[in-house]
Amino acid sequence: MEWSCRPAGFDQDCFVRIVSKISAMQQLGRQWQRAGKAVLFVPTMGFLHRGHAGLMERARQLAGRNGRVVVSVYVNPTQFGPKEDFARYPRDAKGDQRLCRAAGVDVFFAPGDAEMYPADFSTAVQEEKLAGGMEGAARPGHFRGVTTIVAKLFNAVLPTAAVFGAKDFQQAAVIRRMTRDLNFPVKIVVAPTRREADGLAMSSRNKYLSPSQREQAAVLRRAIERAQEAVARRPVAAAQLRLETARMVAAQPEARLDYVEFFDPQTLEPVRTARPGTRMALAVYVGRTRLIDNDEL
Ligand code: AMP
Repeated sequence: MEWSCRPAGFDQDCFVRIVSKISAMQQLGRQWQRAGKAVLFVPTMGFLHRGHAGLMERARQLAGRNGRVVVSVYVNPTQFGPKEDFARYPRDAKGDQRLCRAAGVDVFFAPGDAEMYPADFSTAVQEEKLAGGMEGAARPGHFRGVTTIVAKLFNAVLPTAAVFGAKDFQQAAVIRRMTRDLNFPVKIVVAPTRREADGLAMSSRNKYLSPSQREQAAVLRRAIERAQEAVARRPVAAAQLRLETARMVAAQPEARLDYVEFFDPQTLEPVRTARPGTRMALAVYVGRTRLIDNDEL
């Protein structure tokens, strides 16, 4: 187990313990469990930004002074498709550790590939109802990778609760279902999406965008707001909202709509008519970068 630098005036709030071995993490988790501490866990793929910091702040708040907050950083290869951006996914371990320290995180858990996926690894966790549409349909195998890694991380960290972002709404729903179905004693908490000034949801992938693409990317949020305004006046056919979204996206020279869905937030089943409470989610390629967003209408 290594320790990060000790800043001058060291106190508990600006000191993050770095753990890379699963056994060391489990040992800490068991120790905290015996002491009856709340353990709040925030799983991430790193390149941390203020969106992630929001989850950590929520975790810190729920953990209280006596509880512990663990952030994992692991770019999970099994949730990327063969043509996706695994190899070029941005990484910045030092920056991530700094952000965790500032957010009052206790443990920075960064397991290695060899330990996470030994050469003869041959098990997977798959949710079979909520994971089928939207991201699951557009990215075959994605959720199987997500549920497998989150189950493994739960078994490594042994948290009492885990915090996920509403930005990945379907992911949070799939994980909540997996947690219940497999009886993980973990409470699932969902924290709101943090956005840039123009409404673009913060994402590690925003780094890929050129300045012009970055401007065009605001169309995801604008499309959601347009739908929210329409639905606030009267119920609207999902087909009509879909058409309107497609038009807005097509007006951006480098943007291409992957999907837009209107669905029940509990079952994730598509609705024919969107009304207040319906959830809207969309995925848009801006250049080669695939961005997602969602919100309640
Ligand atoms: P990632 O590192 O992209 O896998 O995300 C790790 C966690 O952070 C997931 O629960 C995401 O939903 C959450 N997250 C990512 N971006 C945001 C954001 N802009 N606001 C809130 N949560 C976010």
